[in-house]
Amino acid sequence: MATLEIRDLHVSVEADNATKEILKGVDLTVKQGETHAIMGPNGSGKSTLAYSLAGHPKYTITGGTVTLDGEDVLEMSVDERARAGVFLAMQYPVEIPGVSVSNFLRTSATAVRGEAPKLRTWVKEVKEAMERLNMDPAFAERNVNEGFSGGEKKRHEILQLELLRPKIAILDETDSGLDVDALRIVSEGVNRVRESGEVGTLLITHYTRILRYIKPDFVHVFSAGRIVESGGPELADKLENEGYESYTKGGVSA
Ligand code: ADP
Ligand code: MG
Ligand code: MG
Repeated sequence: MATLEIRDLHVSVEADNATKEILKGVDLTVKQGETHAIMGPNGSGKSTLAYSLAGHPKYTITGGTVTLDGEDVLEMSVDERARAGVFLAMQYPVEIPGVSVSNFLRTSATAVRGEAPKLRTWVKEVKEAMERLNMDPAFAERNVNEGFSGGEKKRHEILQLELLRPKIAILDETDSGLDVDALRIVSEGVNRVRESGEVGTLLITHYTRILRYIKPDFVHVFSAGRIVESGGPELADKLENEGYESYTKGGVSA
């Protein structure tokens, strides 16, 4: 049973020749099979947490530990983290000019699995996963994220999730910019992966809307760089009704 343990994580970024501390002591344990929603206002550091776990070089770890089954994640390169089973669906997925979705997926799967997937079964796997996400087969030949609509970008992230089958999936605002139909399709994809019981999910979101489709086991309120309250799904209802005001006390930029 894979377990991600984040202990007293402190993270800074360099901005305007100054060091700014963004994460101020994050504690969180995510086990395979569990879904944790992390909810918080804009600018509270949710994406910084996601990037820090994935190993983005812009974010400097100044304190604390992150382990996956006792292995030091912070010592791993970005590739090693992916191979260890950590997956990040970015809030703003980046374009990769000249690389088709099809090539990108196969390269990613090869890197994560440690060997190239058998071509025939792989083609079928991709085709079926795309069908489940209501994606046009022609999509596979487009360049990664180039000219993708918001909904296409998010579907592409979930397509990767379905094909790569990580141990820990970090989904950063996968719901943002989706209409109701796309939100349902994307949520169904996340739920399919969850139902395997083999993934621990960190569902980062600003809005409670996606939690109608993806039922979290735990809800954490994130404010000013740390988790300020944790509870069950009922905490999301409280946020839906009351917003984040009682947590931010006007101290966090919107
Ligand atoms: P959230 O995802 O909760 O909206 P972010 O993690 O994106 O929050 O941002 C938290 C704070 O850190 C913001 O004040 C943001 O401007 C700052 N920040 C995040 N990433 C960078 C960066 N690469 N360079 C400078 N500042 C950053
Ligand atoms: Mg934001
Ligand atoms: Mg963000």
